[in-house]
Amino acid sequence: MVARLVAAGHQAFIVGGCIRDTLLGHPSKDFDVATSATPEEVKQLFRRARIVGRRFRIVHVHVGRELVEVTTFRASHAASPHATAPPHSSEQARRSQRGMLLRDNVFGSLEEDAERRDFTINAIYYDPERDELLDFVGGLEDIASRTLRIIGDPATRFREDPVRMLRAARFIAKLDFALDPATAAPLAQLHALLREIPPARLFDEVLKLLMTGRALATYEALSRHHLFQHLFPDTAAAIHADSRWDAFVRQALINTDLRIKNDQRVTPAFLFAALLWPAVAVAEARHPSAGPQELALQQSAADVLTRAMRHIAIPRRFSAPAREIWELQPRLERRSGRRAWQLLEHPRFRAAYDFVLLREQSGEDLGGLGEWWTRFQAAGEDEREQMAAAVKGPAPPRRRRSRRRKPESGPA
Ligand code: ATP
Ligand code: MG
Repeated sequence: MVARLVAAGHQAFIVGGCIRDTLLGHPSKDFDVATSATPEEVKQLFRRARIVGRRFRIVHVHVGRELVEVTTFRASHAASPHATAPPHSSEQARRSQRGMLLRDNVFGSLEEDAERRDFTINAIYYDPERDELLDFVGGLEDIASRTLRIIGDPATRFREDPVRMLRAARFIAKLDFALDPATAAPLAQLHALLREIPPARLFDEVLKLLMTGRALATYEALSRHHLFQHLFPDTAAAIHADSRWDAFVRQALINTDLRIKNDQRVTPAFLFAALLWPAVAVAEARHPSAGPQELALQQSAADVLTRAMRHIAIPRRFSAPAREIWELQPRLERRSGRRAWQLLEHPRFRAAYDFVLLREQSGEDLGGLGEWWTRFQAAGEDEREQMAAAVKGPAPPRRRRSRRRKPESGPA
């Protein structure tokens, strides 16, 4: 891969996460290559190559079963003396009024490429031809001292791309690094810039934040640096009003981390269901009490999702099942007659049952509901009949208010 680029007369290095992770003794999955070749030149050299991205034109090259992301050396500043625009356009790095980089396709030298990367530990280059590491920004020292440090002036770099704030939270949690104090300082002022990130990009980032096996630590880092409130504002408000929701979110993330550790499947739908549940429950409790509980839940779910989507573009394939998980919560309580058998057949039963267990684990009293379903699933047909018969008949439509002591009571 690198050899072919070098043979064609280009410079090429492995860089980024895989060098960082390898130096730290972590397994690393994807490879990033930095090269002096333009995207077009890269594409011509490899059969299975595709130019992707707009903000950032990179080439995806498939090598065997691996996907390698190849980026052309870039300069970070339009004013850079060595920067050369791509030959086919007069493109410059474009910035918004607040200093956000809108496009970043100004090509540059290797040293400039190092400077425009986010953190020092992500800017270590490896030359496989010479078996040599190149470090222009002190990344190796920061690896040794386990420090996450942004390259250049922290406030400027976070303004250029506010997603770097989320990446900071992700890396300190994932690597168990300390955030350099000068890097941390501007976060207290700049965190609200996250609101300007397109929801589609935030969705990608949120998955990376929560599905890497260190979700709890990441949540703590996000909360400490005022970032969580911009990803899930309604949930943050619920947590602020009642700390039992904090316990609920933590429990959800503890379970997620455990599942990843045990190689069990983690679905974004379940995660979003859990992260938005505090908002749904608060909205439901505020809902006018007339009418059936199901309707209040449905409307609250719809409202919460609509509001959440303004920040994070959750695709339908995840939001629809999240909604089903929520709507199954009261249904799992009404399990008399043949209902329990029908519920077992529901495609979202397993997730909804896990969700009941999660609610109970975080301290909510559901009258042994999780335990009942655990037994019911394991039971033979006779025992199931007995269990269903022992459940009190279809309860008369309950007054929702009577279930909660306070309109905004938490999960306990
Ligand atoms: P991982 O793959 O474990 O998520 P990574 O560091 O490889 O971590 P990628 O998103 O794959 O992250 O990016 C590859 C490299 O590109 C990074 O190591 C960094 O050098 C650079 N990079 C990525 N995102 C940014 C950004 N927003 N600003 C500046 N440089 C970035
Ligand atoms: Mg990577």
